This record gives sequence, structure tokens and C-alpha cells, in this order.
Amino acid sequence: MSSVQRGLNDSVNGSWSESLAGLAGALKSAGGSLGEVLMPRTCPCCAVPVAYGAGSPLCEECLPQLRSALARVERVQVLQPLEGATAPEVRVASRYEGMMPRALLALKNAGRTDLLPLLGEGLARSVYELLRAHRDKLQTEHGSSVPVEVLLIPAPSSAQSVRRRGYAPANLLVQEAARQLNRRLPESVRVRAVDVIGHAPRNRRGSGASLSSRVGPSHVVSSLLGASAAKNEQKTLGAVGRAERMHGALRVMEPALCSGQLSVICDDVVTTGATASEMVRVLQESGSRVLGVCAVAAVPKKC
Ligand SMILES: [Zn+2]
Repeated sequence: MSSVQRGLNDSVNGSWSESLAGLAGALKSAGGSLGEVLMPRTCPCCAVPVAYGAGSPLCEECLPQLRSALARVERVQVLQPLEGATAPEVRVASRYEGMMPRALLALKNAGRTDLLPLLGEGLARSVYELLRAHRDKLQTEHGSSVPVEVLLIPAPSSAQSVRRRGYAPANLLVQEAARQLNRRLPESVRVRAVDVIGHAPRNRRGSGASLSSRVGPSHVVSSLLGASAAKNEQKTLGAVGRAERMHGALRVMEPALCSGQLSVICDDVVTTGATASEMVRVLQESGSRVLGVCAVAAVPKKC
């Protein structure tokens, strides 16, 4: 067994509870701000006031529930193979249901960046599981002491939403996940958050027709979590529509950073996978080896 494999196995056997102790400290330091004294916080999941100095952004009841919701990393079927290649795999820490939408929306739209350590941990877990599944690709050159670097690449936010929010949630989540992962991973593997994908200028975007003629109708983005195609025809058509709209919408701003590098695409929520598919496409075009897509949560299929 290589040192990478051993390290990854050890780390996964050693429980995450060790890192939760560090997380509690981080939450405490994020919690006790002057703003909190002036305007008491409420729990983003149930809206009850959270006591000053509680050390958690969530109330006592919601905190363990959100933690356990984020602890079940699963592989979901979102992306179909492109050009006959194997479909990039998608791993998420949770389903986008229960309290998860409230927590993620509080981070995205209500300025609740105090949720970053918790939600970032969910993203870190899913990246961790993806790296573990691909540990054969994370071998260092024999005798080399240079660690293998994996880029964690956030889904881009529009300039408009960054102006409105004052920050890019996916980018902050990826930075937080990278910090947590570099504490957990063996020394031979390092991750680096690189915000390198942006929106292409409108006049450079392809039309929907060009996608249809390029990849054909069989390359649809499937519905989530193993739904049957017939049952979800409507949803699938919607997903194809989204994929067509996304085609040509993104670009790698610094291809030299990604060329020849292993990368993982990261987002807060995966829905149809249209953004993720387009990110995979442009990253592969720039010469990156995309290991997969990771997110805090995936939207479950409609029954
Ligand atoms: Zn609560």
C-alpha cells in the first residue's frame, strides 16, 4: 500500500470528530462579533434567537441535525458522458431538502457567512471521498517529496450577484473546504482553491443549436438520483434546455494554471448539472484532468 493510500485510509478511519473540535473553536471566534451584540442572531433553519456567545450559528436543536445531514456523502447520477468519455462523477454531502435549503440560502442571500465552517465541512467531506476514490491518480513520482496538487475550482458567480451580495458564496465555500482538507489530507496531497472560471462575453457564447448538432440528443443531462428517463421526460427536457443555454457560457480565465493539473469542480448546490457539465468541458479543453464534481447538496428528483 502506498503512503498516499495509507494516509487516506488512516484519515478516513480517524473520525471527523477530531476536526469538529477545531470547527467548534472556529465557530466561536466567528460568533462573538460586535454586530451580534447589536442585533441578536437567529437560527437560519428555524428562526429562533441564538444566545449570545453560543458558539454556533444554529440553535441547539438544528446544529446536530444539520451536521448529520452533511455527513452522508453520496454519489449521484447527474452528468451524462460527453463525446463517449466516462461521465465525471458527482459527490454531494447532502440532499437539498429539510433544513439544507434554509442553511444554504442564508449563506447565499442573507449574509450568513458564519455558516461557512459547517457548510464548508460538508463540501470538504465530499471532496475527500472523491479523492479517496481516485487515490491511484494521486501518486507522487517515486522518490519525489513534492506533493500532488489538486485544484478545487468554484462555480462562477455572476458579477451582478457578487455586487448584490458583496461576496461569492461558492468561492468562500471552496476556500473553507480547502483549508479543512489540507489539515486532514496526507502531506503528499494538497488542495488549492482557484477561482479560475468566469462567464464568457455574450458575443462568444454558442447557440443551443450548436450544442444539439455537436453532441446529439443522446447526450442529455439526466435527471438526478437515478430517476427513469420516461418518468422524468419533462424534467430531462428542462435539463437539456439548461445545458444548451450553458454551452459556451463559461471560460477558463487562466488556462495555464489548469493545464496538466488535476482538478475538482465545486459548487454549493447541483441541480440539473448544466453548470457543472460546462465547467467540465471548458476545464478539459484547457488541459485539466477533472476528477469529478463535488457540492454541499444535490436537488433530489421529484417523485
Ligand atoms: Zn434552529
